[in-house]
Amino acid sequence: MMTTTATTASPAQVTVLGLGSMGSAIARTLLERGYRTMVWNRTASKSAPLADAGAATAATAEEAVAASPLVVLCLLDTPAVEQVLGSIETAVAGKVLVNLTSGSPAQARANERWARERGAEYLDGKIMGDPPYVGTPHVLFPFSGSRNAFAAHEPTLRELGTVAYHGEDAGLAGVEFMAQVAVAYELLIGYLHALRLVQAEGVDVVEFAERVAGSMPAFPALLTSMAQAVKSGDYQPDLGSLNVQAALMDDMISHRRSVGVEAIRMREVKELMDRRIADGHGDQGFSSLFELLAEHSHA
Ligand code: NDP
Repeated sequence: MMTTTATTASPAQVTVLGLGSMGSAIARTLLERGYRTMVWNRTASKSAPLADAGAATAATAEEAVAASPLVVLCLLDTPAVEQVLGSIETAVAGKVLVNLTSGSPAQARANERWARERGAEYLDGKIMGDPPYVGTPHVLFPFSGSRNAFAAHEPTLRELGTVAYHGEDAGLAGVEFMAQVAVAYELLIGYLHALRLVQAEGVDVVEFAERVAGSMPAFPALLTSMAQAVKSGDYQPDLGSLNVQAALMDDMISHRRSVGVEAIRMREVKELMDRRIADGHGDQGFSSLFELLAEHSHA
């Protein structure tokens, strides 16, 4: 059974709702940094290790919210947030709600409206990193929403990792998260295809990985120049002209086929290049494929 500590005259400075792996890491970090911390979790037994470490515990989310001006939510998903918000409705006026639960930009905007209509300020945050690294600079937290709330609580939020404020539109932290995670997934699935190819050719995958890592320092400048090309619409032949690159793609696809490796990604790139060349842009570079990536351009 959880030990319930009643709310006292000396309120906790921070309340954390949700004590899964991430919420627990957040609450523990705040405790370790000297914050008076009030915690609540739907399954009460998960509060015990934090109570042992000095956290105050509440029997209900509403009681936990009442204890602190700053309330951090870190729950599984959007339905969980909706359920918990519904249960704290009468306690949120005058509070700052910081929701670190993964979810869409639209959901963050809806949460912001919900909070504002009830007299609370809302900050949406996303977490880029793993629980053991909370409290170190290796976990990135993009935030968006109430500027005042961010300014007032930035020192506390900085205890958790590297923070960045993206603007008053509460959806922007989610946009940043979705886009950054997408870059990682797209890069890493391409990397896994490459490992399959390298292994099929009898090359050591770990040694290959080290060589790939050695080529990474070239990426920051390339990422910036590609974004500049996209922003200006001036597509210089980066990575060579599409006419030359398309020929290379044919070699890459046939190489993959020859060693029994899936070529779906290369075929997709080649198809985009062919369409761009057919449209008369074969002299432009890789960045110009951007022009074909809006959904309607797949007519
Ligand atoms: P866990 O599965 O460990 O914890 C989920 C938490 O949500 C628990 O506290 C659980 O309570 C609570 N919960 C689920 N449904 C409800 C509900 N209907 N009502 C009330 N509480 C509910 O997840 P994590 O802590 O790992 O993740 C939390 C958030 O952090 C997620 O949005 C995740 O995407 C994000 N995140 C996690 C990372 C990670 O590596 N773990 C990395 C980056 C982001 P109960 O104990 O009662 O089940």
